[in-house]
Amino acid sequence: MAKISRIDIYENLDKVIIPGANISIVKYKGIRGLEIDDNGNVDIKIEVPKQAENSLKELEQKVVEAVKSVENVTNVKVNITVNEKPYGTVEFKNLIPNVKFPILIGSGKGGVGKSTVSTNLAIALASLGHKVGLLDADFYGPSIAMMFGIKDEPKVNDKEKLVPFEKYGVKVMSLGFLLEEDTPVIWRGPLLMKALNQFLEDVEWGELDYLLIDLPPGTGDIQLSLAQNVKVRGAIAVTTPQDVALLDVKKAVTMFEKLNIPVMGVVENMSYFVCHNCGTKHFIFSGNQTDTGDKLGLPVLGRIPIDSAIREGGDRGLPIVVGYPESPVTKAFIDTAKLIADKSGL
Ligand code: ADP
Repeated sequence: MAKISRIDIYENLDKVIIPGANISIVKYKGIRGLEIDDNGNVDIKIEVPKQAENSLKELEQKVVEAVKSVENVTNVKVNITVNEKPYGTVEFKNLIPNVKFPILIGSGKGGVGKSTVSTNLAIALASLGHKVGLLDADFYGPSIAMMFGIKDEPKVNDKEKLVPFEKYGVKVMSLGFLLEEDTPVIWRGPLLMKALNQFLEDVEWGELDYLLIDLPPGTGDIQLSLAQNVKVRGAIAVTTPQDVALLDVKKAVTMFEKLNIPVMGVVENMSYFVCHNCGTKHFIFSGNQTDTGDKLGLPVLGRIPIDSAIREGGDRGLPIVVGYPESPVTKAFIDTAKLIADKSGL
């Protein structure tokens, strides 16, 4: 039996590109074993990065074709394993090592109350005795500063670090503090990530139990960058009970899962209306209870009623949990904060 050339096999496999990773199997150094016997049988072991995990069948076929086209090969056996680490990922850094439990707060689309929920939850967690920070990373629509009624620019300490504001028991930092009002945020993609990383490194948070990070709506570079640069412990999705919002939030949840960020659950905002006269709960969007959690396959961490006092408080810089500590809305936020604290184990 004529000999099979290993070099030919390598050359052919150098033309097979790993789906999703844009690099050939050979250049990725993915060949982990290559056995050739005298009867023309080739047994090849290949390792691919995580990006290829959903295209293994397609890849296997290409490998078989590539190897079979080498002279004297009669039979090809392929064994592919997936390396959990995606190709090309930047080495993980933790830019906020003094924070025990960073939590991302995301939503599928804007206007569902993500910033309102982040603000009131942060204050509620602090009222339970935790050390809490809140970072407004919603670069496109930073509204945390307004909700906290903070108008000044942050100070820089002698270490050249930005000092967060402390209000209502929470340390607050927002890019909104550094932007002039009406500044168009033209940053996109890599520039935005750089800005965020710089920003994370430059804030003097001190020791914190929780840092809530208010994300821009949707799925994008910020989420990815944070997952690589912060040891995120959990994510919370905010949604309203309407279906459209749910569809969007599903995508955001899938993105968290892909980034290996544990999704703690969903906070359903504008869930129901409490009649001011009789105290009855009216579920405006559905019968007598909403099923957001079931639809998303996630635990519901809290249901926050719709109440004009929430908007008024937000506009005035006096969040409802501070302005109306006895209201049903405040109770809903405190209960949600307790559940989050329970789940986090702090
Ligand atoms: P997002 O951060 O998702 O864009 P915001 O938190 O800025 O949303 O909320 C959008 C608007 O809806 C704000 O004016 C806010 O005051 C108001 N709002 C949010 N939640 C409620 C609620 N439960 N009841 C009434 N108004 C709300």
